Parts: sequence; C-alpha cells; structure tokens
Amino acid sequence: MPESVLPNHCLLTMTDNLLRIQNLDINTVTYVNGQSIESKYLATGDRIELGPDRYPLSWKALQAVLPADIRQLKNVWDNYENENIRLQIAERKFNTLRSATGLITMVAIVLSIATGGKSAWYIVLYAVSIIISLVFFVKAYLDSSKMPQQRQELNRRFQREYSCPHCGHFLGNQSYDLLTQNDHCPYCKSKFIH
Ligand SMILES: [Zn+2]
Repeated sequence: MPESVLPNHCLLTMTDNLLRIQNLDINTVTYVNGQSIESKYLATGDRIELGPDRYPLSWKALQAVLPADIRQLKNVWDNYENENIRLQIAERKFNTLRSATGLITMVAIVLSIATGGKSAWYIVLYAVSIIISLVFFVKAYLDSSKMPQQRQELNRRFQREYSCPHCGHFLGNQSYDLLTQNDHCPYCKSKFIH
C-alpha cells in the first residue's frame, strides 16, 4: 500500500443496505470511477481508488469486511419449494394417469360383456375407450421424459441462485429460516443481512 493512503483515509458506512464512502481527510483524495469525491453512495463494481497514487480498493477486499445481503434468497427458496411441490403433484398425476389407462381398458371389457356384444353401443364405447386410453398413454409417455428433466433443471437453477452473494458458494439444501439462524456464510464467513 503506498504512503499516500492514510490510516484514516476514508469511511465506509452501510445504512439500509446502501454503502456510502466518505473521504475523511481534506489533505488526500478518494476516487470513485475516476472522479474525486467527498462522499458518495456506491454501487457494486464501482472503481474505488485511494490517494493521488490511485491505490485500488478491490470489491473482493470490501466484501470480505462487509455483511452479505441474503434477503433475495428468501424468494429463491420459496420458489424452489413451490416448484418442488408442483412437480410432486405432476408426478402423482402422472402415476394416476398411468393406472387410468389400465382402468379404461378394463371398463371397455366389462362394457362389452354387459352389452353381450350385441348392441352397437358396445362398439362405440369400446372405440371411445381405446381412443381415450391411447391419448392417456401418449400423454403419460411424453410426461415421463419431461418430468425428470424439469426436476434436474429446477435443481440446477436452485444451486446456481441459492448462493452466497459474496463468495458465490451454493448454500445447500437448507431453508431460508435455517440460513438466517446460522447468521453467516459457512464458506467466506461474511455476516448475513436478512
Ligand atoms: Zn460466502
């Protein structure tokens, strides 16, 4: 660190998740995105430089001392849980549908026996049963290849989004409530804001 960076060079404060930088000494200078500032609210990725030698203050170094705001992870968790339930229902429906194809065939057989094979109704009902059976079969077949894919996609997206805002580590299959109880990232140790 160059000598032009003073021990009390600047002050970082965080209120309502807004990060503000203040140049503390009129004898020195603090730059944000190349402009000398007295005080300025920061956006992630802003280029911060200290002193006339423009010593860069990296966001990585900043984030190590700043708390990590995980509030948006509540939505991520809620969506994941809802999607999981939706998929479970879809899977159950699929299984019901699969057993229904057998049921319809059975109904068709019973109908053919009940009508004694004489009435024209028997042929119509049998044809309808076969068509419905076929439609169910095709739908069940299409869904069977679609559902594991949806589940895989859901898990992938969840693992990508349910991560520490600072280090990017996936925070595991634990609820948002559990995350807030732990209070900090187990990987980079950033304290959580929740
Ligand atoms: Zn982390």
